[in-house]
Amino acid sequence: MTEESETKANAGPSSVVVIGSGPAAWAAAIYAARASLHPLVIEGAITEDNRLKGTLPLGQLALTTEVENYPGFPAGQLKEFLDAAIDADRRKYMPPHSGHGVSGPELMELMRQQAVNFGTEVLTDDVVEVNLRKTPFELFCLGGRHFQSHAVIVATGARANYLGLDSEERFKNRGVSACAVCDGALPRFRNKPLVVVGGGDSAMEESTYLSKFASTVYIVHRRDNFRASKIMADRALANPKIQIKWNSQVDEVLGNDQEGVTGVRLRSTTNKAKDEQVAASGYFAAIGHTPNTDFLQGQLELTDKRYIKWTTPARTFTSIEGVFAAGDVADDYYRQAITAAGSGCMAALDAERWLSAKGLH
Ligand code: NAP
Repeated sequence: MTEESETKANAGPSSVVVIGSGPAAWAAAIYAARASLHPLVIEGAITEDNRLKGTLPLGQLALTTEVENYPGFPAGQLKEFLDAAIDADRRKYMPPHSGHGVSGPELMELMRQQAVNFGTEVLTDDVVEVNLRKTPFELFCLGGRHFQSHAVIVATGARANYLGLDSEERFKNRGVSACAVCDGALPRFRNKPLVVVGGGDSAMEESTYLSKFASTVYIVHRRDNFRASKIMADRALANPKIQIKWNSQVDEVLGNDQEGVTGVRLRSTTNKAKDEQVAASGYFAAIGHTPNTDFLQGQLELTDKRYIKWTTPARTFTSIEGVFAAGDVADDYYRQAITAAGSGCMAALDAERWLSAKGLH
């Protein structure tokens, strides 16, 4: 906790607190700070529990490698820019720059630094409990602090589901991924066989996308028919580069320290005699996402998949006036860094206008 946020904890209510630390949160903070709202960002705690769940500060992008689809970062050497732009205290903990444009962790550090440069205060802690039933809203943190705020922007994102195998953990970023659009075009996947696990629209979309790069994509699905929409399933089924491993579960991701992923061991869900190993350079989990909404304890209206419900089209309003939602915590459809950042900006503008209308800013 910084000295400033210590002060904030003891002072009166904030104008706006942003919960989260992905692109939606930092974009919201940048806009709120530039509007003189003096935002506090509660970015998440650095704990083993968060590491295991994939919810450490800086969000899902911090778990990826190169980011080639965020506008403004064509391929090129950014080392000197990163050294100049990011505070030396944080720069020294960042992985070395690859020289191929921007990486997920670099992009997130740049966004965080930009928010800090405009006066955003940052607290490295988890919000574990909220009281949105009274105003100013109250937020309670894991470390014992509590804050009051007139407006709250929830940007806690979603985490990709994995099967929960130790071998998935071992090869994350070395062939194991849950985002084909983020990682699929990387050299290690080109002209190689790849595995996608799942039978929903994500699995269809990811395998169709990966088929542009891979030699073969194996969709591994635990049943004998897809949950995916017919149009997306038909597209995948008609793709000559896609093969389906029906009634199969991945028991283990195979690999070694030098090459990363080299294949998967499959268990048949119907016939033990059909267990097999499949050679592959990549393993993509496409078995759904879980939004990080548990800490809200049912106080905001959620969709049936537990995402926060945006209550007004093209606005970031939620079921509680003064609480706004941005990024993947409210979006199970686009789930891209650029769309999250866009909705973070929208949430800050919505919050600013709401505070102004209420005479709170
Ligand atoms: P989903 O529809 O929930 O499908 C998840 C898939 O993963 C299911 O086939 C499920 O198998 C499988 N699965 C779950 N847990 C598993 C486990 N432990 N082991 C093996 N398989 C497991 O999730 P999604 O595909 O991410 O789609 C989420 C939502 O986003 C959907 O509403 C979808 O329509 C939408 N979406 C739309 C598009 C698009 O239109 N372009 C693209 C992507 C997603 P079972 O079928 O056996 O349960």
